[in-house]
Amino acid sequence: MAIGKIVIVGGGTAGWMAAAAMSRLVSGNDVSVTLVESEQIGTVGVGEATIPHFVDFNRLLDIDEREMLSEVQGTFKLGIQFVNWGQIGESYFHPFGNYGYQIDGVDFHNIWLKQRMEGNDRPIHAFSAETIAAMHRKFSRTEDFQRDDLPPINYAYHLDAGRYAQYLRKYAEARGAVRREGKVADVALYGETGHVASVTLDSGDVIEGDFFIDCSGFRGLLIEQALASGYEDWSQWLPCNRAVALPCTNDGGTLPYTRATAHSAGWQWRVPLQERNGNGHVYCSEYMSDDEAHAILRNNLDGEVLAEPNFLRFTTGRRNKFWNGNVVALGLSAGFMEPLESTSIHLINTGISKLVALFSLDGVTQAQEDAFNRLTGKEYARIRDFLILHYKATQRTDSAFWDYCRTMDVPETLQEKIDLFRANGQIFREEDELFTATSWVAVMLGQGIAPTGYNPMTATLKEPALSEELSEVERSITHLVGAMPSHRDYVQKYCPAP
Ligand code: FAD
Repeated sequence: MAIGKIVIVGGGTAGWMAAAAMSRLVSGNDVSVTLVESEQIGTVGVGEATIPHFVDFNRLLDIDEREMLSEVQGTFKLGIQFVNWGQIGESYFHPFGNYGYQIDGVDFHNIWLKQRMEGNDRPIHAFSAETIAAMHRKFSRTEDFQRDDLPPINYAYHLDAGRYAQYLRKYAEARGAVRREGKVADVALYGETGHVASVTLDSGDVIEGDFFIDCSGFRGLLIEQALASGYEDWSQWLPCNRAVALPCTNDGGTLPYTRATAHSAGWQWRVPLQERNGNGHVYCSEYMSDDEAHAILRNNLDGEVLAEPNFLRFTTGRRNKFWNGNVVALGLSAGFMEPLESTSIHLINTGISKLVALFSLDGVTQAQEDAFNRLTGKEYARIRDFLILHYKATQRTDSAFWDYCRTMDVPETLQEKIDLFRANGQIFREEDELFTATSWVAVMLGQGIAPTGYNPMTATLKEPALSEELSEVERSITHLVGAMPSHRDYVQKYCPAP
């Protein structure tokens, strides 16, 4: 069946990202885009930290960065600081971008490992412009310097998710998308194919469609409730299943990074926006009550509380099928891994990219469905492994929760990564896996997984030229960061909230 009507169910971050992308991409064709959302049900509204691919998503839509950041109270993010994950009192930084660069085909971290074993005590983060800038609370974009001899600056955004959805709503409606307010009360299927035919609102209005995008959040209105796609539960590896969110005042968005602080049965996020901090405590209900989690969060805020606590429940995992018949699930309806590395909005983004790449106005095919499900499944599994690493690689012994995480069995794919790194500092990055060698190295070294050797290829690199090259990298980073303004000044000049 040819596709003339696309219906998106849900108007959270996923729904409006999908509406913005689809309204732009199908414009010029005779295709309508309708989005149904219910104000009464509302959105989760807590996805506030992103990763650099999200900057590309906005560029692809031709969104004006300054205007958008100003409207969503956005700030810049250079990475994540992890506190108390290896041991209580320790911290490390997971930066965007890379540590140094490959020299003669050898990964930078291997060169660094060799030098360290030979007695050089320069920390690896000295070779990350993003980390040094974050430590000094400074920020600039690569374009500001217009110099090829300085390292690029990789960044993402912190943003108010509700305002971002509003911003995209304006964008999508300006390109012809139509919003329908109402609660979906019923979903009708075709008898023959089992595909979704229409949704009925509680007003009685029927909205027919040829292709549906399920962005209805955890409930998975189409993908699960109507089509029973099934769910793969990953709680044995990612046991946190609750969160409480609580915004507080801040000192004007000075920090260009997210902070993730581990507590006794989970961890706390802090996301600095221009006029407030987004905060939340992700925890495991088997080891901690809601009241205790709330009290810990309240006692660890950097400002005055601005709202009532928002309690959320979830089960980490993924749908067995992300694409089922004529329905594609995006966002929380597709699956959920906790926000430790800000990957949920990213998965919406890549879901949209894959959908657009596979989409055809001639109708849906089994081949499209299979390809989407295979690629998305791999993507989820690789992100899952990276998140589990943070829990598995703890050395904490202060609570039953951390004892469980430290001693749990992990997926073979992750165990292999840990074993390879422990032996020779090798990171094997598969296909287009999201997290780079720098990401894996940052977390492994940051949480105390120390390799006993290094890649023998490093022997091909000769001294003193090598040490001189490393010193030059460090110098150029120092120069770059020295020339940057403070993050707060940058934001106030570039994209101040109206
Ligand atoms: P929702 O926001 O739940 O939206 C669902 C929509 O469906 C709503 O509009 C609702 O009204 C509509 N709807 C539902 N049922 C019906 C119905 N019957 N009829 C009509 N409409 C209906 N992601 C990140 O990338 N970074 C982060 O820092 C981050 N932090 C997070 C922290 C927590 C604790 C949680 C739980 C998630 C976090 N996420 C984060 C994930 C992020 O919040 C979501 O990926 C993102 O908000 C997308 O949500 P959504 O649009 O899928 O669902």
